[in-house]
Amino acid sequence: MTAGIMRGRFAPSPTGYLHLGNVWTAFLCWLQVRQQGGKLILRIEDNDEQRSKELFRQAFLEDLTWLGLLWDEGPDTGGPAGPYTQQERYAVYAAALRQLQERGLLYPCYCTRARLQSIGAPHPGEQYLYDGHCRQMSLAERRQMTRTPSLRIRVPAAEIVFNDGVFGRKNAFLPATCGDFIVRRSDGMYAYQLAVSVDDALMGVTHVLRGADLLASTAQQIWLIRLLGYEAPAYTHVPLLVDSDGHRLSKRQNGITVRYLREQGIDSDTLLSYLAWRGHLLPDRRRYSLTELKKRCDLQKLTAENIVIHKNLENYLSLFFP
Ligand code: GLU
Repeated sequence: MTAGIMRGRFAPSPTGYLHLGNVWTAFLCWLQVRQQGGKLILRIEDNDEQRSKELFRQAFLEDLTWLGLLWDEGPDTGGPAGPYTQQERYAVYAAALRQLQERGLLYPCYCTRARLQSIGAPHPGEQYLYDGHCRQMSLAERRQMTRTPSLRIRVPAAEIVFNDGVFGRKNAFLPATCGDFIVRRSDGMYAYQLAVSVDDALMGVTHVLRGADLLASTAQQIWLIRLLGYEAPAYTHVPLLVDSDGHRLSKRQNGITVRYLREQGIDSDTLLSYLAWRGHLLPDRRRYSLTELKKRCDLQKLTAENIVIHKNLENYLSLFFP
């Protein structure tokens, strides 16, 4: 890896077909890196084995290729920081956990889901703050437990300050932001927070660009990356796509997929030009080639406000992007 070169990554989870929200983020990751002459990593975040499917992983590669949003390092192309699929990186996560364990930072948590729900998130969609119930358990108490524990990491009374590319300066006091969080689930799976931090650190990622829904996870990831002895990347959280009622477009709510739009005869330049215009990266509503988009789009124009996507998008696109 050459020092000084921007390294960005697009890190989708293959739990459905690539949807419009993924396209938006992938496009911005691609723009950020290509405008700076950096390297783009494609990382497949399939650490949630139950929800991830090989079919979707394969479809992601095809759909991104169809969009022209090509990457330099990834599961098929390889590269110096691989493997690029999380299910092939378990030994790396295990080594990171051992390092944290040796420093006395991890402890088993026996709390049931019901108990965790009872101390639940203050607002829907927010992470809950763990109350430290299992933190002080003695060895004798632990021996009496019969259920398989998850593993949590002790979070210090520290504040993390960072400057987000869109949301600006953020201060997060860790005990009030994430509390002691899970790094390995009771079913043995590595938690997203651990996997993503280890991967961004070890893959030499210098710039993270992703959806604003992950802004709240950033402080704990920065803390973990530094704890592992690496420099944290620069973060840019981008606005989410919503429908005209303000609901987030996502695959869970039958979000619009790339495949669907392609089947409706929409081409990739139209789709990306539309997103660039809606996202204020371009002043004009017209169709550009990807090469033109790379030249013309201005990432500084991104705002924190959600982006409203037109109803019946395929009709809108055929009318206004002929
Ligand atoms: N895998 C996550 C997702 O698809 C993104 C994680 C990240 O960019 O940090 O939502």
